[in-house]
Amino acid sequence: MSSDAVVSAKGARRWQQGHPWIFKSDVVRRPTADAGAVRVRDERGKWLGWALWSPQSEISLRLLERDIETSIDAAWWYAQIDAAFARRRRIDGANAYRVVHGEGDGLPSLVCDRYDRWLVVQLMSAGLERFRDDIVAALTAVLNPDGILARNDVPLRKKEGLSLESLLLHGNVPQAIEVNEHGVRYLAAPWTGQKTGAFLDQRENRALIGAQARGRALDCFSYHGSFALHLARCADRVVALDSSGPALERARENAALNGLTNIDLVETDAFDYLKDRERARDRFDTIVLDPPAFAKTRASLPAAIRGYKEINLRGMRLLAPGGKLFTASCSFHLTKPLFLEMLDDAAADSGRRIALRELRGQPLDHPELLTVPETGYIKGALLEAMD
Ligand code: SAH
Repeated sequence: MSSDAVVSAKGARRWQQGHPWIFKSDVVRRPTADAGAVRVRDERGKWLGWALWSPQSEISLRLLERDIETSIDAAWWYAQIDAAFARRRRIDGANAYRVVHGEGDGLPSLVCDRYDRWLVVQLMSAGLERFRDDIVAALTAVLNPDGILARNDVPLRKKEGLSLESLLLHGNVPQAIEVNEHGVRYLAAPWTGQKTGAFLDQRENRALIGAQARGRALDCFSYHGSFALHLARCADRVVALDSSGPALERARENAALNGLTNIDLVETDAFDYLKDRERARDRFDTIVLDPPAFAKTRASLPAAIRGYKEINLRGMRLLAPGGKLFTASCSFHLTKPLFLEMLDDAAADSGRRIALRELRGQPLDHPELLTVPETGYIKGALLEAMD
């Protein structure tokens, strides 16, 4: 029994209400076992299920399976990964998408992104790390990839007592992978790029604003130009700006890959650029604001909201009559209500009549569970200037 975990009534209730995490403070008796899968029961002896056990983490237990009779073995991992892949069958028009979205797919702390014939995984808990071989075997059996790379250089792993590293788990993975996204081609950078090599979570939003783009367009926080490439197909000219020179260098390659010659790359700070263009009373027909997470912690939320409001206010003022603005936030701490409130405030101060045309979130391959807020972080809105 000593390798089992016993949790408090509060911990048990969390699981009953659909959240897979049990914190250290709710573990009444810690398992003596090393990190891995453990059986969990409440203080009255009722079995609750199997969980990933992380001895060093504040998140001690992550629910894997409610059926205590099930074995967490190679066949179990295969079945879960096969089911996650099956949920992506409706995705079409793109050869890069998320295959496993952690808690959103019932596989806590596991991320797997597909880039054409290659996979990039992130194993973000000590308990999960113990099943690395089973996970690689299951991914290989389900998807038959040419290579699997672990981008385990995520700072979150430190909290689990795990090392930060990028390593090849299977086959070979090239430095650059050509992705096709609704007719736009771009190079993902699995070894060195942000996240697992690209921002897959905005894929459908890029297609949305791309199809509606026209005239003069502006893509702030462009990174490798992913929004700009979509805008450039319908707009006359696009300004793609980013504060990172190397990011824009890749954007230049991506533009060339698509034979697009109407993208102007500008290395600058987006706040300065927007302020400058507003002073000059400039106008754009299409604008995209997809900044990095301004609120990395709850404490930084007030300052982050001021930042979001500033760029959105200026973005609204820069819209030509009838112009469209796609705006997003990927800060987990900026909840949907706060995101909308920030946009309302910006619109009120903008002196413009701004219509909310569409509220957007994450694509199909990034399932956001209602009971697990941490699975959702992207908020997006398509706005239109009515005057
Ligand atoms: N829109 C991109 C992802 C943006 S990631 C996509 O869909 O792929 C955020 C980008 O913002 C990074 O490339 C980073 O270099 C850039 N960035 C961060 N702060 C900035 C600032 N103040 N001004 C301009 N760019 C900034």
